Parts: sequence; C-alpha cells; structure tokens
Amino acid sequence: MKKRCTKCNQSKNPEEFGQKANSKDGLNWWCKQCVREYQVLRYKSRPEKYREKSRLAMQKSRSTEAGRKRQAATAKRCWDNGRKERNKTYIRSLMENHFFVWRARQWSSKFRVRVSAGDLAKMWKDQRGLCAVSGRKLERDAHLDHIVAIACGGGHGKTNIRWLDPFVNVALGKMTDVEFVMLCQDVLSHQARIPK
Ligand SMILES: [Zn+2]
Repeated sequence: MKKRCTKCNQSKNPEEFGQKANSKDGLNWWCKQCVREYQVLRYKSRPEKYREKSRLAMQKSRSTEAGRKRQAATAKRCWDNGRKERNKTYIRSLMENHFFVWRARQWSSKFRVRVSAGDLAKMWKDQRGLCAVSGRKLERDAHLDHIVAIACGGGHGKTNIRWLDPFVNVALGKMTDVEFVMLCQDVLSHQARIPK
C-alpha cells in the first residue's frame, strides 16, 4: 500500500517515510526525501544556530549510557558505510593542500585542545619559517613541540607550541633547551679538539 507525501504529493512506499509516533499509521506526513531537503535548506538558512542546536543535542545524549551506546553505534555504521574511505581521501587532500589545517586537526585531536590552522600559520610566520631552536629552514615534515614539556607542567594550548626541525626535536628528547645547548657546545668543543 502506497502513501502520499503531503509535501511533494507523490505516492511512495511506506519505507520511504520516517516514523512519527503521533500519526495514525505511525509514519511521517512527509517522505524522507522531502524531510531531508527541508532540513538541508533550514540548516543553510542559519548554520550557526543549527550547529549549536545539534551540538547541544549530542551533548545531552552523551550524558546517558544508552545515548553513548547509540552514538557509538551510529558512528560505527557511518564509518562502515563509507565514511572511513571518505575520511581517508579528505585527510589526504588536507595533507597535500591545507598543511596548517591538517596539522591543527592532528594536534587538536591528539591533545583535546582547540588549536586553529591560523594559530599554526601565524607561529610559522613569526618564526620566519625557521626551526625555533636551530634556525634551520622548516619543511612540511616540521614537528610541533611543547615549549615547556608536559612533564614540567606545560600545557597543550597555542601559547606553549613551537615549530621545530624534526631532527632537532628528536635530538632534544627530554632535555630542556639549556641542556641541549650545553650538549651542542660539548660536541662542538670536543670535535674541535679531535685531530683531523
Ligand atoms: Zn515528499
């Protein structure tokens, strides 16, 4: 038995209608496609409002065990239904074309803080594209580093980050900048003493 959508006026199969508790047949008056089109339009009319609304709804649903389970199930379903592949493509395009956006996302999701692409770009510009410790020219493999180590109470926010040459960052390890400079001086003076 077909059902007529009161929006587009087309007769469609019941599966093409969403559920609605307080309607006679338990189905929505509008077909799923009409609802979707309406929601897209509504969202585009005031994106900030609806983004905030959905953020609050997600937050509320996360506050219960059942809600968390439901969200995890939906996320898994989306992931299996192609989001995984789309995400891969998206990240690859970020890596290639939007370096700072890519790195900001990495940092933000790793440390659960909000660092923007603009922050990282400004930092790069303030460092004139040079490693903050060695002055070597930064490339796309540059590392983001905590200025004050987390172990010493440093935070993850944008005021405690700098760009480093990757080798410099690895060499630094757990040393402070002062310790590292002393090490470099030892290396220099020892090398100078070794007969060539
Ligand atoms: Zn319709």
